Amino acid sequence: MLDEELIKVANLFGGEEAVTVVKSLKKLGEGTDETISNDCQVRLNTVRKILYKLYDHGLVSCTRIRDEKTGWFIFYWRLQPDQLDAFIRSRKKRALDKLKQRLDYERNHTFFVCKTDSEVRVTFEDAVETSFKCVKCGKHLESSDNLDMIAVLESRMEKLEAELSR
Ligand SMILES: [Zn+2]
Repeated sequence: MLDEELIKVANLFGGEEAVTVVKSLKKLGEGTDETISNDCQVRLNTVRKILYKLYDHGLVSCTRIRDEKTGWFIFYWRLQPDQLDAFIRSRKKRALDKLKQRLDYERNHTFFVCKTDSEVRVTFEDAVETSFKCVKCGKHLESSDNLDMIAVLESRMEKLEAELSR
């Protein structure tokens, strides 16, 4: 399991505190919410919230054991490396699909921009609608080359495809 990816996923679920909890759980191998909280110095309530969130997504598993003295259940948590890998892969596949759609869109359209308003970028069809005038300032729109954008999207896709083929 790649630590870097584990940290990214933890960060996604609960920011730096989640990263701290996940690192602690990885080090401990298995632990109760209290041992995790003591180990990483994150408040018990926060540790629990993070564990439940990770549990909802199948990223941690939980074993319930009854304490013979108190009769209460004790929950032992551990990371689920296989699930984490599946989770990361499915996120990457979704990102790749989105990139493909975006790339098709960029390749199949010609774009026009306003030199004054950087946020104005429209397709040829939309530019025709406004007679090639900017909807914000009324200036004439100019055609814009999207080869750089296409190159960026292609290289991002290549990177993701390489990661997914591993
Ligand atoms: Zn404008």
